[in-house]
Amino acid sequence: MCGIVGYAGFRNVSDFLLEGLHRLEYRGYDSAGIAVLSETGIDVRKRAGRVTELGMLIESQPIPGSVGIGHTRWATHGEPTDVNSHPHFGGSGEVAVVHNGVIENYDSLRKQLQQLGYVFRSQTDTEVAAHLLAHHLNEQIRLEGLGGSGEEGLDTDLCLKAVEATLARLKGTYGLAILFRECPGTLIAARCGSPLVIGIGENESFLASDASPLVGYTKEVVYLSDNEIAVLSQSALRIEHRHTGKVRPSIQTLSQVNSDIELNGFPHYMLKEIYEQPQTVENALRGRLDSEEATAVMGGLNLSAKELRRIDRIVLTACGTSWHAGLVGEYLLEEFARMPTEVEYASELRYRNPPMSDRTLVFAITQSGETADTLAAMRECKRKGHPTLAICNVVGSSIAREADGGIYLHAGPEIGVASTKAFTSQVTVLTLLALYFARMRHMSFPTGQRIIKQLRNMPEMIQKTLECHDKVREVADRYYHFNNYLYLGRLYNFPVALEGALKLKEISYIHAEGYPAAEMKHGPIALVDEQTPSVFIIPRGAIYSKVISNMEEIRARRGPVIAIACEGDLDVARIADEVIYVPEVEEYLQPLVCAIPLQLLSYHIALLRGCNVDRPRNLAKSVTVE
Ligand code: GLU
Repeated sequence: MCGIVGYAGFRNVSDFLLEGLHRLEYRGYDSAGIAVLSETGIDVRKRAGRVTELGMLIESQPIPGSVGIGHTRWATHGEPTDVNSHPHFGGSGEVAVVHNGVIENYDSLRKQLQQLGYVFRSQTDTEVAAHLLAHHLNEQIRLEGLGGSGEEGLDTDLCLKAVEATLARLKGTYGLAILFRECPGTLIAARCGSPLVIGIGENESFLASDASPLVGYTKEVVYLSDNEIAVLSQSALRIEHRHTGKVRPSIQTLSQVNSDIELNGFPHYMLKEIYEQPQTVENALRGRLDSEEATAVMGGLNLSAKELRRIDRIVLTACGTSWHAGLVGEYLLEEFARMPTEVEYASELRYRNPPMSDRTLVFAITQSGETADTLAAMRECKRKGHPTLAICNVVGSSIAREADGGIYLHAGPEIGVASTKAFTSQVTVLTLLALYFARMRHMSFPTGQRIIKQLRNMPEMIQKTLECHDKVREVADRYYHFNNYLYLGRLYNFPVALEGALKLKEISYIHAEGYPAAEMKHGPIALVDEQTPSVFIIPRGAIYSKVISNMEEIRARRGPVIAIACEGDLDVARIADEVIYVPEVEEYLQPLVCAIPLQLLSYHIALLRGCNVDRPRNLAKSVTVE
């Protein structure tokens, strides 16, 4: 998720690390820190907040040395505090570690390590890796009888073995950079799922989670692959594959300039975030699917099965895009779990005072965890004694802290103001929640298993959906000059229609309305003419033929029709002016694929109209006012 830098060479390492961390700031983060290895040991400076503040700390308490690691953290486990910031020490300071990603089995490892006497200082998953490294290092020393640090320090092979033994026990994703106190001049990096790139200089080696910190220092880079471990020192680079042994590094030339890299080659954050969705949906599912029990794993709800079994009504409260995700959640919870569910605008719920029995469970849905109305609605429900949970992206945010429990999206920082990947992650989490409640009630084991299988397939389906991009661009080219749009869909695609219309409004400032496709006859059809395109979300499903009729009604009034339909659907192609195809998935999963062409459509229309897609006028990323 966030940023890593590392260096072994001759420079004053804290200067390089700080500059590197500044260059990684664009990724979004909540805390930062560095560790420097010197003759006297490993020194750490870290703190919650901006890299500039870390710089001030280092200025007042400098740490000389020429080998070190640095990190910008985007908290996933534990609040963004000084203590939870990386680097983390392992054992009694033999090791220092920075980590990007999530260690899924941290809970059981933590318990095992605590039993062995390791003392945890933070709430992070990362600290588990730090202690494990120290533990395996000491095991190796004991086994091989090297007795720890001699004059020249520890043998690198020994440290490497400790790293290998540690990685064998980790489940999840990681990019790791590690310093061993007794291994001077060396830093070790390992990758599984979180990117790392090594820079080769003259008498110096660099490490970073993307190439931006390396620009200007070297053009020779090696991208680490999953399961590779790299040993970096002033004069050498050695790469080992965990299963196949030594790797010959393939050196590539770094050609991009810094500003390109910051967006990983994407022109805007919004587009980058749209393209991250196969990964972010996978992150939302990671560690949460239990095939054996055919259910979802929802550890963070902090309510026992017995307590949850008492619940007879769910209220989902949210604003904007999160409210639309909530609507999908309502359909899912009612269909799967037969659980009466309502979706409330947080701004209304906070003052509306509807009757709610003591068996009502409240979920606040929010990307930032700071949305003022959602926070207030949640507090109001809490004050009345309802259990309140959060579905939220930002760890340690106000809503995450104040809720009784909840589910994190793990979508990584969303920088584009118009939400994209947070929406699909929210829908994914709500699907998991519906499965969880359903399996507690009426859903059979085989149905649960079938849903799990379909969910596992979604990252790939979303990847396939992105292939519609060229077609969407063409459609945008032909339609960007219209000033009014209708977005129409039914059942699970009604909230998608609302979300599509909102995206268009937000970033292209075009008036757009989302409606249930059939409801259009009861008023909005008066708007339809040659100048008002209708975007139909019409993948195959139970009432497909009814939506076809709605589409005919628009065509009969000369309204241009853009359709989002399943691959190969020629019936829709015969009626609509434009068809954007998406892969066929189960109806309840359609929002996850159908939202994507709509995000892309609003992106391209906004670009063609000269709008600032990442910073639309009048909008703020997290709405902290009422
Ligand atoms: N899971 C780690 C933490 O919460 C690392 C998060 C990151 O990638 O920054 O501390």
